[in-house]
Amino acid sequence: MASQTEYDLVVIGSGPGGQKAAVAASKLGKSVAVIERGWMLGGVCVNTGTIPSKTLREAVIYLTGMNQRELYGTSYRVKDNITTEDLHMRTSHVITREIDVVRSQLIRNKIDLFTGHGRFVDPHTVVVENENDSEHTTVSGEHIVIATGTKPARPDGIEFDDEHVLDSDGILGLKKVPTSMVVVGAGVVGIEYASIFAALGTKVTVVEKRPSMLDFVDSEIVEALTFHLRDLAVTFRFGEEVTGVEIGDETTLTTLASGKRIAADTVMYSAGRQGLTDTLDLKAAGLEADKRGRLDVGDDFRTSVDHIFAVGDVIGFPALAATSMDQGRLAAYHAFDEPANDMTALQPIGIYTIPEVSYVGATEAELTDQSVPYEFGVARYRELARGQIAGDSHGMLKLLVSTEDRTLLGVHIFGTNATELIHIGQAVMGCGGTVDYLVDAVLNYPTFSEAYKVAALDVTNKLRAVDEFRR
Ligand SMILES: Cc1cc2nc3c(=O)[nH]c(=O)nc-3n(C[C@H](O)[C@H](O)[C@H](O)COP(=O)(O)OP(=O)(O)OC[C@H]3O[C@@H](n4cnc5c(N)ncnc54)[C@H](O)[C@@H]3O)c2cc1C
Repeated sequence: MASQTEYDLVVIGSGPGGQKAAVAASKLGKSVAVIERGWMLGGVCVNTGTIPSKTLREAVIYLTGMNQRELYGTSYRVKDNITTEDLHMRTSHVITREIDVVRSQLIRNKIDLFTGHGRFVDPHTVVVENENDSEHTTVSGEHIVIATGTKPARPDGIEFDDEHVLDSDGILGLKKVPTSMVVVGAGVVGIEYASIFAALGTKVTVVEKRPSMLDFVDSEIVEALTFHLRDLAVTFRFGEEVTGVEIGDETTLTTLASGKRIAADTVMYSAGRQGLTDTLDLKAAGLEADKRGRLDVGDDFRTSVDHIFAVGDVIGFPALAATSMDQGRLAAYHAFDEPANDMTALQPIGIYTIPEVSYVGATEAELTDQSVPYEFGVARYRELARGQIAGDSHGMLKLLVSTEDRTLLGVHIFGTNATELIHIGQAVMGCGGTVDYLVDAVLNYPTFSEAYKVAALDVTNKLRAVDEFRR
């Protein structure tokens, strides 16, 4: 038997994209249903990706006491023998709370939640199959948003036992903190986990087939990060490829194409992600995904079928929770002809390594390639009173400023609070502000934000020197 219900909007997937699409449509007075598999309310973001990894990072920074060692000495620890139970305690607490927040938000906005696997029956109808229930519900929508996200890609020929060889989903279930670990892939997720485990004392080897990592980030910042990770005993094998991983009784052996062999307790693959569209019966909706499972959409997040939208990781780059949320909101607005601005091109990037990295706007390499003249200014945290108080002497903030009209072209930060501080630069850039605003602004003291003023003064002093030479 099957029951059928009709809605203005049906959303498949309750991650940041689906959630925000559902809430935005509900605020417009529309009837909304969200379909989510039972164990994943809040999506990859809440259950296996953003939230657990950022909580794990916070737990590691706190328990290792590493951010306090400049002040109290290198032997300072909050806890000597950190176990996976210590770490899971904090991650599961935050995940539970966040799931509750999502559930409450759906209830408050009178959004119906259907638990089970959704797949298309026709372009307006989705059947929800729940293994605990022989009765399937059929939900139909005037509009549909696909927000099914991604799963970790697993390369052919590698055996994943989820104990010794695992991906970013499996890493959260580790039974003990590994003594040694190979991370395959130096993308954002790989390098975040490499830094988290290195901070815990695990001997980490990162294997990356490209000649360097994070090539979209300013090279000076990548150099600083690489230096710090090496200082935490991380070994980088750039330009190297894994040809095989063997699993023994207790450990693993990773073989590289160059013939090198690396023994380690754990191998973590971070080899990209695959769109979750293979079980959606897209054909029944008149849609087709690319070979990485991703859907193609226009600027308004509409697929090739007029009433079906797709948002979040399932549409590919930049595949961030931050952007997925806004894509969801905008898809709902476009579906119901609510006036909406396009997504702003100025989007910050945050990399939660230890220490963290964040930037907005252009890198020095991009400006140089495009022959855009700029001046740069740097503030080092060790010159800031707040840096001394917090015990962060390695952090830095770099401003890139147009020499033609003095507007900010890019902000690059490495160190404590980078992912928060970046929003000051983003706001100034978004409003077309110049470096002079930062010179003139009075900022709270002592703060990390003061770095903006110090870097702005550095820029303007250099600009003045050039002007004086011309005079
Ligand atoms: C380790 C890791 C760390 C990350 N860190 C960050 C970070 O620091 N900052 C950041 O901005 N982003 C981060 N991300 C990326 C972020 O998690 C994703 O961009 C975001 O979760 C994508 O949201 P989404 O709405 O596309 O869907 P997802 O969060 O992927 O959720 C999709 C949901 O759809 C459900 N679903 C799929 N198919 C079906 C179906 N057929 N029927 C019913 N339900 C279905 C799934 O169960 C899932 O719950 C990280 C990702 C990972 C893996």
